[in-house]
Amino acid sequence: MPFARVAVPAPLKPLDTLLDYRIPEELVGQVQIGSLVQVPFARRKTWALVFEISESTALAETQIKSIESLKLPMPVADRARLELFRWLSRHYLYPIGEVCESALPAAIREGTARTLKLPEKSFDEGSEIEASVPPPLNEDQASAIRQLATPSADPLLLWGVTGSGKTEVYLKAIEDRLHQGQSALLLVPEISLTPQLMSRFESRFPGEVATFHSALKPTAVRKAWLETLLGKRRIAIGARSALFAPVQNLGLIVLDEEHDGSYKQEDRLRYHARAVALEYGRIAKVPVLLGSATPSAESFDRVEKGLTRLARLPRRAVGEATLPEIQVLDLKKQIAQPNMDPRPKQPLTFQAPPIDGDFFLTAEMQRELQNVLDQGRQALLFLNRRGQASQLLCRGCGHKSNCPACEVTLTPHGKGLLCHYCGYEAPIPRECPACKRSDSPFLKVGIGTEALEEAVRLHFPTAKTLRLDRDTAETNDQLRDILGLFAEKKADILIGTQMVAKGHDFPDVTFVGIVLADIGLGVPDFRSNERALQLLLQVSGRAGRAIHPGRVLLQTFQPEHPVFQVLTRAQGLDDYGEFLRQEIENREALAYPPRGELALLRFDGLENDLVREAARKVAAGLNRIQSEGFRVLGPVPSPLARLRNRYRWQILLKSRNEEHLRKSLNWIMEGWDKQKLERTLKTRLIVDLEPATMM
Ligand code: ADP
Ligand code: ZN
Repeated sequence: MPFARVAVPAPLKPLDTLLDYRIPEELVGQVQIGSLVQVPFARRKTWALVFEISESTALAETQIKSIESLKLPMPVADRARLELFRWLSRHYLYPIGEVCESALPAAIREGTARTLKLPEKSFDEGSEIEASVPPPLNEDQASAIRQLATPSADPLLLWGVTGSGKTEVYLKAIEDRLHQGQSALLLVPEISLTPQLMSRFESRFPGEVATFHSALKPTAVRKAWLETLLGKRRIAIGARSALFAPVQNLGLIVLDEEHDGSYKQEDRLRYHARAVALEYGRIAKVPVLLGSATPSAESFDRVEKGLTRLARLPRRAVGEATLPEIQVLDLKKQIAQPNMDPRPKQPLTFQAPPIDGDFFLTAEMQRELQNVLDQGRQALLFLNRRGQASQLLCRGCGHKSNCPACEVTLTPHGKGLLCHYCGYEAPIPRECPACKRSDSPFLKVGIGTEALEEAVRLHFPTAKTLRLDRDTAETNDQLRDILGLFAEKKADILIGTQMVAKGHDFPDVTFVGIVLADIGLGVPDFRSNERALQLLLQVSGRAGRAIHPGRVLLQTFQPEHPVFQVLTRAQGLDDYGEFLRQEIENREALAYPPRGELALLRFDGLENDLVREAARKVAAGLNRIQSEGFRVLGPVPSPLARLRNRYRWQILLKSRNEEHLRKSLNWIMEGWDKQKLERTLKTRLIVDLEPATMM
């Protein structure tokens, strides 16, 4: 009688623990490697994934239990995917069963014989649609396709300026795979699941596309997943979790906007989709195509080391389209202008900056907007902060309103004060809680998208505006509506946060106004310059993508900042590359990625003293195993020292050598009893490898 070794969703130790179950007679031959089954486990029933089949077991006859049922007649994971799950467990120090739990959607795992019933006929709803006809590729694009077709185990970085036709290359590469009877995965950052991108793929490959993202209802997930498993749909598109879509006969993995921070999963299994895609490609022996206008330092460094191949698209694809001209405006000079009356109607008892919507809608900005309106074109205004202002200050004593649960200031919105971290809401108080002043005591400082939109409406009463941020687009449908309206030219000016920066292709946008470029620059993170430049290049890249040339006006209080210096030059590939080389050199000295490995240990709990003690104990243990090139930094309070009532401390582990880092992490996972930490010090410990944020 054969036995199955399965992973169950439980935090078993060691992390790669598989459990043996007997395969009952009626299921012999049906239960295979990769099968999804139902088993009894710890006095309950659970799903399990079969990793191995064996003729023997080390368990005694009395100990062994039997598989209860088979959930789906065919395996849900092939060997490559199972090997990938094992790698994920090892690499991210995560229990194998919980890796499977993260990779398989709940609608499938928890499905029953009834809900998982396979559709009898195919669902070729799209087959009547004529596939759209692709434009002939230009020489650079064709050369990228040839490179991808050359056999090699190395990934290919497609580095092309915004609007250079990268998506067209993905489409062609995928088409080639389909012709060979293979299928493809296309990963896009969360927000880029735009109607535009999706409809380009759907109209090119009618009936072949399955979409995966977090907002899908369970029935939709189940349908997309089963259709993919059955090979009815051969292109899986989605955010990071689409990596685990069960496409049959995988032939290509594409990661669009490979530099995007949203590829990092920030809870449970904290994987980086780029790292996983590269490993998956290696295991499954399929090419990985990484695309970006602004590659990550990590990918660029791999190119320099010869580990990743490079294809460049240095020019925009459409006819004569060129990159926009970027002009930098010094806001400090703006303050000095005589007509900039400090706004508050009453004298101030402290020096408050005269800054609001009017201030940021500078004469230059207004002139550019008027130009766009006169020509019947469209404009984007980018401001990476939502709400009315950045904070509310008391005119009497300078008191700031803080969130009661987090160590951050509350952001004024139209409806009141809001915490951007925990969602706490409060009305704007009538009197200052500190000095009790009550004659409309508060001053809004700084600017957010809400206030910007009001100012634009005031100055351009006949212009139609739309706002895109997390307040106006809480759901995917709302996001789709706003982008759709703008694409149909139902509005002249689109105002928004970084949501406007990503991948959109609006041919009539000829002007991009960067209202306050300083936001995000001072963040205590070694990647802050890289991120700022990527975001600014992305948003600038929305201008002049088609026949009309584009312009960008960038407003800042620190025009001398190196990021802006590079930005005005770095539109072409070479300057951006030079910037990355310099970045990497700086990081080399400090052993930061890509020239060092990082792990962040995050501690949090309700009592600050206990959290600190827990962090100190772990640090003391780590310090004992210090070795050459390995450093333990901290513990220190996290930059966000309190969130949702929990105090936060962190330790940063840095190593030039991955081995040392592994050794210390293993010590934590095996030698440190996390449960004891939770019991005695009431502190939770999260190990974040390849951390995307240091906050
Ligand atoms: P990217 O993904 O690099 O931003 P896209 O693939 O979206 O670029 O292309 C930008 C614009 O250029 C799109 O409108 C696209 O249809 C067009 N385009 C791309 N490749 C070609 C080509 N070879 N010939 C003509 N137009 C093209
Ligand atoms: Zn809060």
